[in-house]
Amino acid sequence: MTATRSAEKASLVVIGGGPGGYAAAFRAADRGLEVTLVDAEDRLGGVCLLRGCIPSKALLHAAQLVHQARDAEALGLRFGEPGIDLARLRSWTGGVVDRLAGGVGQLAKRRGVRVLRARARFRDARSLELDGDDVPDRLGFEHAILATGSVPAAPPALRSDDARVMDSTSALALEEVPDRLLVVGGGYIGLELGTVYAALGSKVTVVELTGSLLPGVDADLVRPLERRLTRDFEKIAKSTRVQGLETLDAGVRVRLEGPGVDPQPLFDRVLVAVGRRPLSDGIGLDEAGIDRDEKGFVRVDRQGRTSQPHVFAIGDVSGEPMLAHKASRDGKVAAEALAGEPAERDHVAVPAVVFTDPEVAWCGLTENEARERGRDVRVARFPWGASGRALTLDRTDGLTKLVVDPASERVLGVGIVGPGAGELIAEGALAVEMGAVARDVAETIHTHPTLAETVGEAAESVFGQATHVHSARPRSR
Ligand code: FAD
Ligand code: NAD
Repeated sequence: MTATRSAEKASLVVIGGGPGGYAAAFRAADRGLEVTLVDAEDRLGGVCLLRGCIPSKALLHAAQLVHQARDAEALGLRFGEPGIDLARLRSWTGGVVDRLAGGVGQLAKRRGVRVLRARARFRDARSLELDGDDVPDRLGFEHAILATGSVPAAPPALRSDDARVMDSTSALALEEVPDRLLVVGGGYIGLELGTVYAALGSKVTVVELTGSLLPGVDADLVRPLERRLTRDFEKIAKSTRVQGLETLDAGVRVRLEGPGVDPQPLFDRVLVAVGRRPLSDGIGLDEAGIDRDEKGFVRVDRQGRTSQPHVFAIGDVSGEPMLAHKASRDGKVAAEALAGEPAERDHVAVPAVVFTDPEVAWCGLTENEARERGRDVRVARFPWGASGRALTLDRTDGLTKLVVDPASERVLGVGIVGPGAGELIAEGALAVEMGAVARDVAETIHTHPTLAETVGEAAESVFGQATHVHSARPRSR
């Protein structure tokens, strides 16, 4: 039966059902609030679950298997070239997404969260206009949490309607494996999806505007990744700009400007991955009197309250870093604040992971940030060449480092590059969040032989006393 189109009122409405929005809705429901969750998609999960984190990590797992099979030759095991069944790979990845999205929908139902499939727009500071089937036209609210996320950014020179010019969503659809793929942008998406396509057989060229891959990340963490990508990719062109694209029958002709590059190479497909921008246009923020900054992020305070204190904004739409776990944390803080609790966004260690091979992960203060801020830090490094576990995995191309306050010896940041760095960084995030000192980490017993030991040994290195590295002049303490 079709519901009557009318005006209704909600106690709390959450706009956007991604990892920010659904985490906020669930936490609010768990605190006893009555919650309506509105999302334009036909299922919950947002960018992360439907066309971001999850499908990309499923494909990266497949890429890792290809790499492992290839690298096994050095150990005396030969598997031959992989046979790739794209339809099956697509269907497996889709199945992972379906299962998770179904699970989130079930969790919403069990918590009594009312889910409306509609596109929402603020009419004013107290009501929304809804565009969808079987939903009221208007929804008044007492409180709202805005969680509309972000969309790919594409400067005019990189825009095209041709399907061969892809963004992350179309690249994840894996329509085909092009022979020659150009990736524009050497950031998270460019390097992760470049890794997937290279493993599936594409000759991948990456063009990065700045002088380094993953700009901003500590150079010693990027170096081992770049070394391996130099092997796996056809070319990495740094300090290079794409001036324009021309779609031809024979492929996509690209005009490049940079040191030592072919100025007009031809590619079969192009992936544009030059960043994302907050989805804050066209949703009536001006009508609601909600302020944005010059980049389009909704301005929020430490609880996530916007310039309208009964409206919160969380996740990608509310500022950097645009990461799913940060969005979820923001969502929980907003819900708890609404429930009257003294919650705040006091994030001291938002971990970040680039799921390439090797993975690159960091949390808390990085060495680059310390330098930029003129802050004196002690940096202790433990190279994986000294790790027994890394040797047994034939992966000594890793590094674990701790950034420590020299006076208090408090762990301010952790950086790791190597296979599994994305899992290992969790210990670093806990250490930074808990205000651990290097000695706490050094005296924590780490299982042998594991890569986690590199975190303990890096902490011992703060005192010049790592068991498996001999420094000429150990400091006695
Ligand atoms: P989103 O996930 O963007 O969700 C916003 C939701 O709002 C969407 O469902 C949308 O339909 C809905 N919406 C928007 N406007 C309206 C409207 N007007 N009315 C109703 N509904 C609306 N992050 C990580 O931490 N780890 C990763 O490995 C990772 N991998 C990624 C890979 C890719 C390819 C991409 C693109 C991103 C990746 N990210 C990753 C980033 C991550 O996806 C985002 O940080 C995260 O999804 C942000 O969550 P959010 O809740 O703020 O918004
Ligand atoms: P990004 O900011 O990570 O990288 C964009 C890169 O493109 C930068 O290195 C930038 O210097 C470069 N660039 C910008 N303009 C360019 C141009 N005209 N030509 C060539 N290079 C150019 O952005 P992204 O890779 O698009 O990812 C967007 C966001 O999504 C990330 O910042 C991150 O927040 C999130 N994400 C996270 C993960 C993860 O957590 N593993 C994975 C994917 C995406």
